[in-house]
Amino acid sequence: MLPGVVVKAYNGYYYVRSDDEKTMVSCSLRGRFKKERFSLLVGDEVRYSLLGSEKGVIEEILPRRTMLSRPMVANVDQVILNFAAANPDINPVLVDRFLIIAELSELEIILCINKVDLADQAALAVLIERYSSIGYPVLSLSAKNGIGIEDLRARLQDRITVFAGPSGTGKSTLLNAIEPGLSLATGQVSEKIGRGRHTTRFAELMPLAQGGYVVDTPGFSLTEFVDIDERGLMYCFRDLVPWIPQCRFNSCIHYKEPQCAVKEAVREGKIHPERYESYLAVLTELKENKKGFRL
Ligand code: GDP
Ligand code: ZN
Repeated sequence: MLPGVVVKAYNGYYYVRSDDEKTMVSCSLRGRFKKERFSLLVGDEVRYSLLGSEKGVIEEILPRRTMLSRPMVANVDQVILNFAAANPDINPVLVDRFLIIAELSELEIILCINKVDLADQAALAVLIERYSSIGYPVLSLSAKNGIGIEDLRARLQDRITVFAGPSGTGKSTLLNAIEPGLSLATGQVSEKIGRGRHTTRFAELMPLAQGGYVVDTPGFSLTEFVDIDERGLMYCFRDLVPWIPQCRFNSCIHYKEPQCAVKEAVREGKIHPERYESYLAVLTELKENKKGFRL
């Protein structure tokens, strides 16, 4: 049997790519999987046997490492949150909101700030410091001038990556700089398709020549509804997490409670006040709408 990764699912067929051989085989699924109603996903690692040169049967499905629900893809390793230094201007409040959903996915997160050719250098340095001090890797990029592209390329190698971030920030341009000919569906296009009635869009994995894959559909978009409760929310702020156990009350949501270690850390400058404001803003939205908030 041969090892491969499902890169595309279409009409009951699975397109399986062997990373070593760089071949693509269209496979059907062994009957027993159908009986078990096992839903095979793009990103799943499988073993298959060949029937002829380009057809095969999937015999075995390996355990999933991760699963992302929007888009539905197995084994994604990391999410890249891409923003633009300008045009459209990066807005830390929006960065914080994207970070909440990215944290919920439990995947590794990399922050990218593209279009640094348009940036005010001092303002950029402040932003980079804010997020790297929380523990996020931050890459400064310019798809236009080739800045940081090698760095980004290295981060994508041998991993499955989903790109997210507001549209117009240069996600497709960056990917084309990494791998000419590869083009990520832009935020706008995929949002439009997502709302269509008949066009359920299935994500595909796009192989990179250097090894690794990029999901062709941007992750969560600005239309996203985020299903989360108050306790879940606080753990999406990495910079709040270390202080939470020191609050006086176990039930503390770091809002109006006395002896709150989180608020104390904000006062002492150990948590950035705007990060805490982002937390409070979403917390307030959760109180109004018990089921979640809109990105
Ligand atoms: P997406 O919606 O995130 O995929 O964004 P696009 O890749 O479609 O890019 C949006 C616009 O930004 C296009 O006009 C690009 O040419 C432009 N753009 C992308 N990267 C850069 C960059 O590094 N610098 C500048 N100045 N413009 C860029
Ligand atoms: Zn507290």
